[in-house]
Amino acid sequence: MAVKKRRKKLRATREIKINMKIIQERSKCIGCGSCAAVCEKHFKMSEDGLASIIGGQMDNGNMILEVDDIACVREAVEICPVQIIKIE
Ligand code: SF4
Repeated sequence: MAVKKRRKKLRATREIKINMKIIQERSKCIGCGSCAAVCEKHFKMSEDGLASIIGGQMDNGNMILEVDDIACVREAVEICPVQIIKIE
């Protein structure tokens, strides 16, 4: 019985996908590379020396990507010395 309940709860959890956005104020990036070091799944250093969100789109000076898994992004948010990475 307990196993059935757990499976049902797990199934329900998997069905709930919350879309979130990673937002980087790219124009304020100082190119330290910390975000890419702690979260290579979502950040990379670009040829211009600034970080980019992998697969992100530029919008009004910000780079934005919708995701349903923010795993390591929280670390990037915390480690960015100029605090330009946000999760919404
Ligand atoms: S941690 Fe912040 S300042 Fe450093 S590269 Fe990433 S976005 Fe730019």
